[in-house]
Amino acid sequence: MEDSELCLQCGHPFDPHAIISTTGDPVDGGIMLCPRVDCQCYSTWGLDGGEARRIPDRVEVEIIREQIQREGS
Ligand SMILES: [Zn+2]
Ligand SMILES: [Zn+2]
Repeated sequence: MEDSELCLQCGHPFDPHAIISTTGDPVDGGIMLCPRVDCQCYSTWGLDGGEARRIPDRVEVEIIREQIQREGS
């Protein structure tokens, strides 16, 4: 497996990571979470390498992560 296929944050395969648009509009960027249960991987993203317009707080990230990881299991 190529290194580029692994997440730099957690080392799990990059492919199933959940890309979430935090404003509901993909143009505004958002966060990316790993669907592996109990993985704390978290990163933000924006179009063209920019910043996400809205960064969710810790509690909101936890809620989203729980949904992602429950769906993935
Ligand atoms: Zn990851
Ligand atoms: Zn992970």
